[in-house]
Amino acid sequence: MRLRNIPGSREFIAGSSHVIQEEKLADCRGKWHELFGNDSPIFIEIGTGKWRFITQLAERDPGANYIGIEKYSSVLIKAIKKLEERPDIHNLFFIRMDAEYITDVFAPGEVAGIYLNFSDPWPKDRHARRRLPGKEFLERYRRILVPGGEVAFKTDNQDLFAFAIEAAREAGYTTISCTHDLHHDPVLNAGNIMTEYEERFSAMGNPICKLVITP
Ligand code: SAM
Repeated sequence: MRLRNIPGSREFIAGSSHVIQEEKLADCRGKWHELFGNDSPIFIEIGTGKWRFITQLAERDPGANYIGIEKYSSVLIKAIKKLEERPDIHNLFFIRMDAEYITDVFAPGEVAGIYLNFSDPWPKDRHARRRLPGKEFLERYRRILVPGGEVAFKTDNQDLFAFAIEAAREAGYTTISCTHDLHHDPVLNAGNIMTEYEERFSAMGNPICKLVITP
């Protein structure tokens, strides 16, 4: 993703009640249910981007809790501004952080499910460890997921998808579902929420792949 720096985005995020601020994250570990004020399951999206997927999920399922995690302030600011337009949504927070540190923020068994949508492909071999559906990240996800918790990954990038399938196998995950053409699979596509990238790439004619796995 090419990033345009938005001046003031860091300050805006630091003042937002929709964001769990960086300095409070370590205290939230193991206490996220207290923060939401209920025992409902907690789902996270890593690499949220602008807003649509996680905000629509939270709207559709008020009986669950949602957290959108995004590394860059200039991207996250857009998601927060959208959420500000929706005062009726109370089950969604954002975190600005690099997901590499996810096990510092969530305790074992604290997360019911993880969404990875159109993760950056990092095509160079020397950057493979940065790929969010890669083996190193899958090990981190294993440590925070509830038993039976799932990781759902969507992409139009065939190479990254093949990499994710292999990484899941190497990490000892079990495949729950796998398709190379989500939008033409009426069963797996039921209830699908399109992300901004998904809309853009499917409009270009790219088939969308989806993998759902569990540790
Ligand atoms: N999920 C959105 C979509 O499908 O429209 C955005 C996809 S965009 C290609 C990938 C996003 O993941 C970017 O906003 C990027 O900043 C974020 N990202 C990449 N690596 C990350 C990491 N390690 N931790 C948190 N966010 C990350």
